[in-house]
Amino acid sequence: MQKIAAFTTTIPVEVVLASGYRPLDLNNIFVSDPNPSSLVEKAEFSGFAGSSCAWIKGLYSVLVSPEHNKDIDVFIAVTEGDCSNAKVLEQIVAAETGIRTFIFNFPYFREIDKMRSEISRFAEFMGTDYASCVRTWKELSSLRRKLKIIDETSYLYPGSVTGEENHLFLVSSSDFCGDPQEYEAKADDFIKELDHRKRFADPSRKKIAYLGVPPIVPVHAFLEERNATVVYNEIQREFAMLDEYPTIEEQYTNYTYPYSAAFRFEKAIAEIKKRNVDGIIHYVQSFCHRQLEDIILRKLLESKGLNIPLLTLEFDKPSNKIDARVATRIEAFLETI
Ligand code: SF4
Repeated sequence: MQKIAAFTTTIPVEVVLASGYRPLDLNNIFVSDPNPSSLVEKAEFSGFAGSSCAWIKGLYSVLVSPEHNKDIDVFIAVTEGDCSNAKVLEQIVAAETGIRTFIFNFPYFREIDKMRSEISRFAEFMGTDYASCVRTWKELSSLRRKLKIIDETSYLYPGSVTGEENHLFLVSSSDFCGDPQEYEAKADDFIKELDHRKRFADPSRKKIAYLGVPPIVPVHAFLEERNATVVYNEIQREFAMLDEYPTIEEQYTNYTYPYSAAFRFEKAIAEIKKRNVDGIIHYVQSFCHRQLEDIILRKLLESKGLNIPLLTLEFDKPSNKIDARVATRIEAFLETI
């Protein structure tokens, strides 16, 4: 059985693959669980506060549940560049399970040489080396180009790729569902289907930019049913590393998620303009420090004179439907655009 390296958020997945481990993004396991609320409750039963973020509770429960963790050999927590909750989660997991842990830090100032040493330090821990990671990175470029085709088709032919399909292809590329070759075959099949679907693109659909962490509720499907399609999934697109750079360390220093909100939103605004969106949804998770970034986003949009309607949505717990109060807010927002 291939050993699993599980992680809290996107890391240089090339290191995991080069070391022969199967990558596992814990977020994808939590959110696709048939009953994610039970994972949140399990963490609360173990002592997590009701007022801490649902994602961190879900990740904890996946890591300590025998049905999920039996083949996890290494747990990688990203501390610098993600979330302070991950720092303590690493300590809890080290204390409560036999899983080996590693802390990955995105260099605070986006220095390329520091990124290279952090990748090398990670590679050494995983029993591989920098040169092997670079080889893997080159091998992944064809898959990433295919994901880019799917992403670009979503706004060039509105409605041909649903917001949810694009979201799933991009968000799952943090670990390629454990198998990049199988994932690439799935992308190939989807691209073939798009040749047919493009003919039925519908320019009258409202084009939405979705900014923020991936949702814990089905926002994309809700919009789709109301003649609106998400044509830009900001953070998910970042996870997929679709922009090409000359080196692996440059790729990861240009990955916006671990860095300042201004850096993130400058790139997002360029995409929003390119994709000519009609409205922006900014998703924020309850009890997450990233909620405050909404202030920076609004100021940046204003300073650039961009008058695109913006709706900020906050969600707390996982659910398979949007509650009536929020549904009304989204519908009212769609009517304004
Ligand atoms: S949503 Fe925010 S608080 Fe929760 S795990 Fe992610 S970064 Fe941390």
